[in-house]
Amino acid sequence: MTIANAYPVTQTIRTIGILGGGQLGMMLAQAAMPLGYHCVFLEDSADCPASLYGRVFSSEQLDAFIEAADVFTLEFENTPTATVQQLANLSKSGSKQGMFPPTIALDIAQDRLKEKQMFNTLDIATVPFVSVSSEAELQQACNALGLPIVLKTSRGGYDGKGQFVIRQDSDIKAAWQELKDAVTGKGSLTQTPAPLIAEGFIHFSRELSIIAARGQNGQVRCYDLVENHHHQGILAKTQAPAIGTSHLFKQATDAITNVMNHLGYVGVMALELFVTKDARGNDTLLANEIAPRVHNSGHWSIEGAVTSQFENHIRAVVNLPLGDTDNVYPAIMINVLGQYPDISSVLNIDGVHYHSYHKAERDDRKIAHITLMPNDVADLEPALARLVAVLPNKVGLDKKVTPINNPATAEDSLTTAKVKADAENRENLANDDNEQQNFESTNSKVEKAKK
Ligand code: AMP
Repeated sequence: MTIANAYPVTQTIRTIGILGGGQLGMMLAQAAMPLGYHCVFLEDSADCPASLYGRVFSSEQLDAFIEAADVFTLEFENTPTATVQQLANLSKSGSKQGMFPPTIALDIAQDRLKEKQMFNTLDIATVPFVSVSSEAELQQACNALGLPIVLKTSRGGYDGKGQFVIRQDSDIKAAWQELKDAVTGKGSLTQTPAPLIAEGFIHFSRELSIIAARGQNGQVRCYDLVENHHHQGILAKTQAPAIGTSHLFKQATDAITNVMNHLGYVGVMALELFVTKDARGNDTLLANEIAPRVHNSGHWSIEGAVTSQFENHIRAVVNLPLGDTDNVYPAIMINVLGQYPDISSVLNIDGVHYHSYHKAERDDRKIAHITLMPNDVADLEPALARLVAVLPNKVGLDKKVTPINNPATAEDSLTTAKVKADAENRENLANDDNEQQNFESTNSKVEKAKK
């Protein structure tokens, strides 16, 4: 079958091969289509969400998948690095147009220990941590870090799985028993042997994340900081932008920019952060982990940003200019977990954008998300209350969002826009862009925030 591109902007690329076919792949394909690109997927589940948008190849059909695509990317973090490297090698030899992000990003993101070591190498603060390969080392780690600690598998953990909080000495044995198989690669979470990581337990005030896109020319564009609320390690709700965080924006953008530059990254990345206090009692950020892909905490950007994270990822992969990452309006994103709500009750609420993943219902499974972006910001909280009332599963939605319709926070969002505009201006000037354009874009951003 020949697939025509609507706009053959990059003549040598028609089809993007995506490793994984879940909802992230589905939303990447949704963003690729209007740009004129078609996606195919490497995924063992034939009726995966992405199957509605392009052909799905099983892992046994890797050769046919490679044949079908011109350039490659991924949506599944635990993709084997060997496959990613194979695709990268094809690109090096010139037979394909690229594999983005680079293998090193995946290799590091798949291993919490390597990830935290990388942060520290780049002077990005993290929780204190120690590598643990035996029960004796676990005892030493508890002594060194002081209880409580969080013991985690370095590899294979997801949505809070592969973790044990040790609160008292008597928990140490149970924690070791639960996670020790990961050290030898025998556990259910990972087949690759790797030490555990013991982390100091942090009493953070908020969990934030920042998402950024990096193009093939090295340009980095950051989205606003967002606040995330979890239920047992699963994201339940994201507030975008995170209110009252303008003083942390530069620290966050510097951190993600450093990581991306260090890795020679191309595409969208998320950086998860804890807000805590420094020695002087001022707010500061600790980096927890990166996601080398589009991220659940960026789903709001489909409606809430000038260019969504999905579109910017596609643009980066096919080597097109990155789009504006500004927030167009405050938004709240809710994950629908386990059970679908009555759709007409949901759509009865003004400002709702519903995204079904076409998945079967299953306990706490992410099956859809809803972004609330009413035309009047003052309607956001009442709309959220109405939405929560009609959702069958309300887990993780009990924590209040930070109110946005008060003078202090309005001022804050203005400051965020200003800080961001200044940062982008510095970046644009460094990129030798037209100064008049920068002046105009700063003004329009500040005006937008004033609204
Ligand atoms: P992770 O798998 O590292 O993203 O951890 C899942 C969740 O556990 C995070 O979103 C935090 O809420 C919590 N958590 C992880 N590490 C720590 C830590 N060192 N101290 C306190 N809470 C943590």
